This record gives sequence, structure tokens and C-alpha cells, in this order.
Amino acid sequence: MNASTDTFRKPLIVANWKMNKDISETEVFIKSFLPHLPKELNRDMVLCPPFTALQSAACLLKGSSVMLGAQNVSENKDGAYTGEVSARMLASLGCQFVIVGHSERREYQKETDALVNKKILAARSADLVPIVCVGEKLEERETNKTMTVVSHQVKAALENLPSTETKKLAFAYEPIWAIGTGKTATPDQAQEVHAKIRDLIKESYGSQTAHSVRILYGGSVKPENMAELMACEDIDGALVGGASLELNSFLKIVLYQTKTLAGK
Ligand code: PEP
Repeated sequence: MNASTDTFRKPLIVANWKMNKDISETEVFIKSFLPHLPKELNRDMVLCPPFTALQSAACLLKGSSVMLGAQNVSENKDGAYTGEVSARMLASLGCQFVIVGHSERREYQKETDALVNKKILAARSADLVPIVCVGEKLEERETNKTMTVVSHQVKAALENLPSTETKKLAFAYEPIWAIGTGKTATPDQAQEVHAKIRDLIKESYGSQTAHSVRILYGGSVKPENMAELMACEDIDGALVGGASLELNSFLKIVLYQTKTLAGK
């Protein structure tokens, strides 16, 4: 429950496997993961395996409380775009979510804010929930540019989106200096940026929309820091990379525990 608004945002925990796990490794993970989940766990959980493992994952996740997401989507509907995968194709595989604008794609594939916005619109056209990643580089944080950079990314992401669509997005604040580095933003550092993102949504769409959008934190989330991050008012979940690849650590993260029942 969010104290200031009485809005309950169900926590959303997303595993981003990046370019890891083939089909059999995906199957082994899911078959071992699902039986450990308590029946009444009030969280939305999403696995984002590579494209090649989506179909196998979809079959194994059917009927479970864990949903499926992709790591990328084309901005185009269909046509001559060799190597691309459309939103409709992902939806037909059973995906409900898609990660958009991850910093690795912004850096290595040179994805711009404008392209990220097109991908969000494409995802929404197939009713996928885009998980929109934003975040600053280390030198930007060190020169006090975090809020400027993140505000620019958020505003660009929301271009041409009506309120009804904005409600269906999730944001992930992922400081680039914290991704895969073992350095996590402190809860205060993360909360400050999350509150700013919510304020920006509020400025354009009003408080009802702002309080229904889930804002995840990403960047070296691990069992040891999950509970303190989740205790922050505007942190509604986590986008987890490295620590989602190993069954025991991801299980602890979704349970907000440092130890699983097996004590490991
Ligand atoms: C990510 O890939 O989105 C991520 C946050 O990675 P990690 O948890 O490994 O820092």
C-alpha cells in the first residue's frame, strides 16, 4: 500500500536473462523454479529468456503464476526487416511483457530515445506491457546530471502516448553504473529517481495514472538488497539480470529473503 495515495501497486519482479540459457537450460530452470513458489505470493513475476527459448518457456509457464516477456521488439509491424521480431509475434508466443530501451541496447545497438518511443508504441499495439528502461551513466551521476538525463528519457518515452496507454507501461530505473557491476544504488538514491519519474508522469497525465504505473529498480539487485529496496515508497519491483540466472538467488529475490527454506 502506498501511504500517500492508498494505491496498491502489485510488486513486479522481472528476470532479464540477456543472452544466457539455451532451450534445455531454460527448461531446467523453470521446472525447478515453479515448485518452490508459494501458492499465495502477491507478486507479478516475469521471465525474459532469449527469443530462442520463448516457446519452450511459454509451454512450461502455462497455468503458473509466472508470466513471459521478451527482451526486445521491432518498432515495425511486419515486412522486410531481416532478423527482427514483431510485437504481434511475441504476443502470439504468449508474451505479455517486453523490455524496451535497455541500456545495453542503447549502447551496443545505438537505440535512440525516438526509437525506444516507437518500440513502446509497437508493443502497445499488440497489448504487450513495455518495461521501459531509463538511467544515467556514472559520469552523469557524478556531474549531477541524473535528473536531467532520466527526465529526458522518460519524456521521450511518453511521446504520443495517451493516458490509457501510459497506465499500461512499467518503467525500470537502471543506473548504468549499477548494471552487472555489483554496485547497487542505495535505497535513497533509487527512491529519489523513482519519485522523480512518478512526478513526471503526474505532470503529464495526473496522479491517478502516475500512481498506477509500476517503477522497477534494476542494477545489481541481489537477495541481500531486495527487501530494503522494496521498502521504498516508489519502488514497485525489480528488473534482475545476473542474479536471476541462478535458481536459488532468484528465488530469494522473489521472496525478499536472504535465505531460502533450504537455508542456502
Ligand atoms: C539488467 O540487465 O537489467 C540488470 C539490472 O542486470 P544486473 O542485475 O546484472 O545488474
